[in-house]
Amino acid sequence: MIKDPNRLQALVADIRSFVRERWHPLENQIDLEDDIPAAVVQELRDKGYFGWSIPQAYGGLGLSTEELVRCAFELSQASVALRARVGTNTGIGSEALVADGTEEQKQRWLPRMARGELTGCLALTEPDAGSEASNIHTSARREGEHYVLNGTKRFITNAPLADVFTVIARTADGSSGSDGLTAFLVERGAGLATGRPYRKMGQAGSPVSDIHFENCRVHAGQIIGGREGQGFKTVMKVLNKQRLHLAALCTGPAIRMLELAMEHVGRREQFGQPVASFQLVQAMIADSRTEIFAAQSMILEAARARDRGEEVALTASMCKYFASEMCGRVADRAVQMFGGSGYVADFSPIERYFRDVRLFRLYEGTSQIHQLNIAKLALREHGAA
Ligand SMILES: Cc1cc2nc3c(=O)[nH]c(=O)nc-3n(C[C@H](O)[C@H](O)[C@H](O)COP(=O)(O)OP(=O)(O)OC[C@H]3O[C@@H](n4cnc5c(N)ncnc54)[C@H](O)[C@@H]3O)c2cc1C
Repeated sequence: MIKDPNRLQALVADIRSFVRERWHPLENQIDLEDDIPAAVVQELRDKGYFGWSIPQAYGGLGLSTEELVRCAFELSQASVALRARVGTNTGIGSEALVADGTEEQKQRWLPRMARGELTGCLALTEPDAGSEASNIHTSARREGEHYVLNGTKRFITNAPLADVFTVIARTADGSSGSDGLTAFLVERGAGLATGRPYRKMGQAGSPVSDIHFENCRVHAGQIIGGREGQGFKTVMKVLNKQRLHLAALCTGPAIRMLELAMEHVGRREQFGQPVASFQLVQAMIADSRTEIFAAQSMILEAARARDRGEEVALTASMCKYFASEMCGRVADRAVQMFGGSGYVADFSPIERYFRDVRLFRLYEGTSQIHQLNIAKLALREHGAA
């Protein structure tokens, strides 16, 4: 649903020019320094990019799902660090509060998240809870008006720089699986410690680390929604929306890589003619362009369905699975079309993009977990399971 076509058109044009004129020239520097210049982060704040998905009542833009994915298609035509910097606030870092927070909690945190004054993150994964996301060992024991958190979270995007953490912890002693889990909004000052940012395969400029809780005291008023035991339901709401958002964020890099590859094969001559004139190269362009269109179409369709209030668990999972795998295939073809220059960072950005996008098939549900989920939901729909 497009709530306001003029606003959307202006926003998309603004993102497009920011990405092309401001961000692309900085990508290599950000990769080498593993950091985004503070002035650029401030520009993102000034432009309101941190508040896209936060309702207008709390200082955000309140974009519909369709508007959000259309903006994400544009924002992600850049190295992944850009969208990772704002993306936890426009996605997993704020969405639990948006979906299930009490009015008081929303008033307390969302306006500052929308302005980018606070950076959020979602801390679900643990050393023993990856694909088996409900195998949470972080505990939250009640002591009077507080809960005392102990445990370790692993692989948390933006943890090294986050101010507020949506943390899923086990409140019910002796519970297992998705029962007895509760979502807390924990502030950095509460006493948690974040580890050193990892050395990663790609996505330089997007810090990821462990989080350690050692007798970290959190007031009971910081249970998202105010009720114990609802944590897994809250996370599932966050992830259903986020899968569509992430699918769109997987599509932009594919658009960018194909664009770079087409420029290259148009320029590069072998055998006395542009490489683009060879039909075997054209097949790679055709397959990539077709798959990008397929991803865009299914994401828009699913986003509109979500805006109509329809159930999108199955379609969101299909979108994330298809778009992330599609992006990997496009990255591989782009390296191929660049030839040796696609493998050497000194000659093209494609080597970096190739490494950056590898993560898409791993986080927020690996491709295998999405295959299982899609099959389970499809069989259920068919009445066979
Ligand atoms: C850079 C980075 C950033 C991340 N950001 C966040 C974040 O912000 N917040 C957060 O909470 N988490 C985050 N994650 C965690 C991410 O979501 C998990 O890494 C992911 O869910 C996979 O879990 P795992 O790494 O433990 O892999 P595992 O679960 O150990 O999986 C290993 C392999 O086994 C396969 N496998 C597992 N179970 C099955 C099965 N039943 N059937 C078939 N195959 C199976 C998987 O598909 C995979 O191929 C991030 C991870 C990384 C690397």
